[in-house]
Amino acid sequence: MKITRRGFIQTAGAATAIGIAGVPYIALGAGKKVVVVGGGTGGATAAKYIRMADPSVEVTLIEANKEYYTCYMSNEVLSGERSLDSIKFGYSGMAKHGVTVVHDTATEIDAQAKVVKTAGGKSFGFDRCIVAPGIDFQWGKIEGYDNAAAEKIPHAWKAGPQTALLRSQLEAMKDGGTVVIAAPPNPFRCPPGPYERASQIAMYLQHHKPKSKVIILDPKPKFSKQGLFTGAWKKFYGFGTENSMIEWHGQQEEAGVVAVDVGANSVTTAFGDEIKADVLNVIPPQKASEIAFAAGLTNDSGWCPINLKTFESTLQAGVHVLGDASIATGMPKSGYSANSQAKVCAAAVVALLNGQEPGVPAYVNTCYSIAGKDHGFSVAAVYRLAEDGSKIESVSGGLTPADASEEQFKREVLYAHSWFKNITEDSFG
Ligand SMILES: Cc1cc2nc3c(=O)[nH]c(=O)nc-3n(C[C@H](O)[C@H](O)[C@H](O)COP(=O)(O)OP(=O)(O)OC[C@H]3O[C@@H](n4cnc5c(N)ncnc54)[C@H](O)[C@@H]3O)c2cc1C
Repeated sequence: MKITRRGFIQTAGAATAIGIAGVPYIALGAGKKVVVVGGGTGGATAAKYIRMADPSVEVTLIEANKEYYTCYMSNEVLSGERSLDSIKFGYSGMAKHGVTVVHDTATEIDAQAKVVKTAGGKSFGFDRCIVAPGIDFQWGKIEGYDNAAAEKIPHAWKAGPQTALLRSQLEAMKDGGTVVIAAPPNPFRCPPGPYERASQIAMYLQHHKPKSKVIILDPKPKFSKQGLFTGAWKKFYGFGTENSMIEWHGQQEEAGVVAVDVGANSVTTAFGDEIKADVLNVIPPQKASEIAFAAGLTNDSGWCPINLKTFESTLQAGVHVLGDASIATGMPKSGYSANSQAKVCAAAVVALLNGQEPGVPAYVNTCYSIAGKDHGFSVAAVYRLAEDGSKIESVSGGLTPADASEEQFKREVLYAHSWFKNITEDSFG
């Protein structure tokens, strides 16, 4: 079935309505306790929406940091288009919804005893627990690149100080320098992210250091929204010509990075080529965050298998996992996915606490990318659970057409910025 943008918007509107109307606004779960581990986009949304659906449920959110930096829009910090402060959010909004926020690190989740323990020595009992801890890196997969190396050669794949470090290195780089981005293998957080990053860095260099280059070394044969990215790169950065500001080298050239030399600021590719950089950004292979392993929530893939209707772990009863850490088959690992999954999970948890059957969910995701001044594009989808429950299926959606007008590309940038305001208010406000 060919899906039009208009059709998508209609279905997306309907899905939102179902999402809200489907939440039981009743107060039957009196005295029930939910502990949410991880107050990123997914965890904060889940905590807030449980309280909105059933204010009698006691919700405690355990989050390691006092401030959350969104990864979304962090590529605009790299280009100098926005400040680091503009992507920083606190947790005061949670109090308005009656969520108790504890800044501590969860170290243990005991599904049998129904208790979460923290590094600060506290214990929190629960009837149901929601875990949304995001990602960690598979240190050791790239020789010479570990947590300590990341202090010199940033990954900037968790926003905050890492973003600031990469930005300062770009600012300090000489004109004529080479920026090398080592892209990660699938699956990883934000499939279009490395390519948006290359675009944003090129946008900065074009105006401030025009003799410079960005080289992407990629273990994959193709990447998300490739036609739209390469179209923008041709338009703005001479892609495909000898003087292109952006080069992409994929699996065909065995371009994936296998080793990093911190002293020499260089990388070695699978083919054995050594490439020296002036600024190096290594985005390592990823896995669910550490607490998911400690809690026995992961399988051999390094991610967390779940029931796609309720987000309850298939390994630990009573514990739900959502966002990047989960295996939400059919949905990308994105902030918008985490936000949408959190609402589905919150509704399911409230239903289960009240002895009700969770409703049939709808989910939604849009990923915007800003690839040049006034040039953005997006991929959007509305999803439903497959009848056999085995995957989340896209039932409607769309991609910005490659031959969109300049006006349309410009409008997508406005939509992206407006989406950012909405999702951060929805999750943290
Ligand atoms: C460069 C870049 C650009 C991106 N752009 C977009 C975009 O345009 N649109 C989009 O939708 N998505 C985008 N994303 C992806 C998006 O940021 C993630 O998918 C999203 O943050 C996932 O949400 P989450 O709640 O699963 O994890 P996170 O947001 O990472 O939150 C996890 C939280 O858990 C906390 N935590 C972890 N372990 C513990 C513990 N043991 N105890 C207590 N707290 C703990 C962490 O401190 C963190 O706050 C981008 C990502 C990157 C890197």
